[in-house]
Amino acid sequence: MASAVTLWPLNFVIKEGIIRMKIIMLGAPGAGKGTQAQMIAEQYHIPHISTGDIFRANIKNGTELGKKAKAFMDKGQLVPDELTVQLLLDRVAQDDCKDGYVLDGFPRTIPQADVLDQELTKLGDKVDYAINVDVPDENIIHRMSGRRACLKCGATYHIEHIPPKKEGICDKCGSELVQREDDKPETVKNRLSVYHEQTQPLIEYYTRKNILKTVDGTRDMKDVFSDIITILGR
Ligand code: ADP
Ligand code: ADP
Ligand code: ZN
Repeated sequence: MASAVTLWPLNFVIKEGIIRMKIIMLGAPGAGKGTQAQMIAEQYHIPHISTGDIFRANIKNGTELGKKAKAFMDKGQLVPDELTVQLLLDRVAQDDCKDGYVLDGFPRTIPQADVLDQELTKLGDKVDYAINVDVPDENIIHRMSGRRACLKCGATYHIEHIPPKKEGICDKCGSELVQREDDKPETVKNRLSVYHEQTQPLIEYYTRKNILKTVDGTRDMKDVFSDIITILGR
C-alpha cells in the first residue's frame, strides 16, 4: 500500500504550528547583527541572545563576571572562552529557548563553535542557519561612532541612519541611550582585527556545514531584513 509522504522543510521541526529555528548571526562588529537579530526574534517569537548584552548587564550590576569581562572588552579583545562558553550554554538551556533562538555575538571563535555543535549534537539537535551580515571595514568605523545603545533592553540606534524618536531615549523602553565605551575609533580598529583573525574563519566553518547564508549588510536595515526573511521563510 502506498503511504502518503509529507515533505516538511528539512531544517525545521514543526510543532504545534511553531517553526523551531536556531540561528547564528555572523559579521564584523557593527555589521548590524544585533539590529537584525532583534527583528528576527520578534518575527519568529524566539529569544535574541547577545553575549555582549549579557556581559554589559553584568558590568552594570557590578558582578565578578562583569569585572573580569570588562578588562577584555575595554581593550577590544575577546573575553576568554572559560568565561563565555558556559554562560552561553546555561542561557540556551533555559526554558524560553526550547523553540529556538537567535545568537548574536556567539560563537566568535572556532572552539566556541565546536562546543555549541557538540552540545547540540548531544541533544540530537543542530544550528539551522548561520547568517553572515557582510559589511566592508570602511563602513564600520562610521557605523560604530554613531551607534547608541540601550543597556536596559539591548536595542541599538544610529544617530543618522536609525535615530530614536526622541534624542537619547530608547523607543522601546524609555531608558537613556549611551555610547558604548568600546565604540571609540581606536578600540573599534582593534576589534576589527580581532574579528578578522578569530571570528571570520567561522564563515568557512559554516560554509562547510552547508548552512551559511550571506546578506549584503550595507543596504537599508529593512532591505537586509527582507533578504533574511527570504532565506528563513515565513
Ligand atoms: P558587537 O555588537 O560590536 O559585535 P558585542 O556586543 O557582541 O559587540 O560584544 C562586545 C564585546 O563583548 C566584544 O568585543 C568581546 O569583548 C565581548 N564578547 C561578546 N561576545 C563574546 C564571545 N562570544 N566571545 C568572547 N568575547 C565576547
Ligand atoms: P552589531 O550587533 O553587528 O555590532 P548593530 O546592530 O549594533 O551591529 O549595528 C551597528 C550600528 O549600525 C548601530 O548604530 C545600528 O543602528 C547601525 N545599523 C544597523 N544596521 C544598519 C543598516 N542596515 N544601515 C545603517 N546603519 C545600520
Ligand atoms: Zn531600551
